Amino acid sequence: MATSGKSTAVSHVGKIRANNQDSGYAGSHLFVVADGMGGHAGGDVASAIALKRVMDADRQYASAADAEFALQSALMAANSLLAETVFEHPELTGMGTTVSAILRSGSQIALAHIGDSRIYLLRDGKLKQITADHTFVQRLVDSGRITQEEAAVHPRRSVLMRVLGDVDAAPDIDTTVLDVQPGDRWLLCSDGLSSYVSDDKIEHALRTIPDVNAAAERLLRDSLDQGAPDNVTAVIVDIDETGESGSNPAIVVGSAALPLTFEGESGRRPLRLPSLLLHPLKSTQHEDSHFEPESDEYLDELILEDRRRARRRRITWLVGIIVIIVGIVVALLLGYRWTQSLYYVGANGSTVAIYQGVQQDIGPISLHSVYTETSVKLNDLPTYMRKTVTDTISAQDLSDARAIIKRLADAGK
Ligand code: CA
Repeated sequence: MATSGKSTAVSHVGKIRANNQDSGYAGSHLFVVADGMGGHAGGDVASAIALKRVMDADRQYASAADAEFALQSALMAANSLLAETVFEHPELTGMGTTVSAILRSGSQIALAHIGDSRIYLLRDGKLKQITADHTFVQRLVDSGRITQEEAAVHPRRSVLMRVLGDVDAAPDIDTTVLDVQPGDRWLLCSDGLSSYVSDDKIEHALRTIPDVNAAAERLLRDSLDQGAPDNVTAVIVDIDETGESGSNPAIVVGSAALPLTFEGESGRRPLRLPSLLLHPLKSTQHEDSHFEPESDEYLDELILEDRRRARRRRITWLVGIIVIIVGIVVALLLGYRWTQSLYYVGANGSTVAIYQGVQQDIGPISLHSVYTETSVKLNDLPTYMRKTVTDTISAQDLSDARAIIKRLADAGK
């Protein structure tokens, strides 16, 4: 392999998805991850188009500020290209992609980011997430409505507020310039890794495996071990004193490594009849896209919907608990009624009595009471019978109990 061994890119379709909609790139100075969305309508196309356009920015720049500007311009150009592609291929409407990229310039890197792919930095053995997710749940966390822990299991955790695509002509892209140090290790990854493998595990792999390829393979393996429900892409870059971190030749992985399938002779993709027939009411637009355009009204609507959902969940719980309590009370009442249909004969002080109920008590609740006193005296009974009476004699019913009393009275004469 002709790579310098300081950077690498890997991508895997995962265990559930039919195709890989992620793309990854490790070039001379530039490193990129893009995670496409659009379900049947071209998430793979979106990430490939964006990545290939952003790849054009892989050059040496006079300064990190120049690199930052170039990166920002490349992402904007990719956004326009996606919109143009959708215009020419309406069946791709609704496709979009995340892009997270770093462009090295000497002792600094320029960074550009949109979506929920992530950029991490391992420095002095500690992993730090550099980018913020442009997701609905991250908005909720930032505004203090939910905690980071709640966000991790939130039903809307995959909803993106910002992506590149055909929705917004001027997408809000985060860019910055950061200093790098020899020994730094950068990781760019799609949410197929960061949503399923813990930061601790990622940190451990990056800290303990010196070889970039082996470390990337370990991260893939960790995600597959978690079931890999999504496509997984990871790009790792090691920074050393040489100022060179790049891969030569460049490594392209995922969807961008394949030919763009919609560029047929007719310039059109074949119409996907089965999906249309199966879901005649669903437009291909936004299917499985998880992308929601960013607007305050829309965000408020989402928050309201979440509250309604939480309220419904609480009511369901409450009704469930009431049903269980009512069930227990009814069962206890029926049980008590059953015990009160039983009789037995026993001692009551110095005489013999018929008791209603059962001899056992449940805590402070007595399940028996004297039904009727008799004139039979314990002392008149033969010793063995006296013992039997004090141990109690159960009867089949009230008349059986009376018959027992009669036998005792006869024996006592
Ligand atoms: Ca993904």
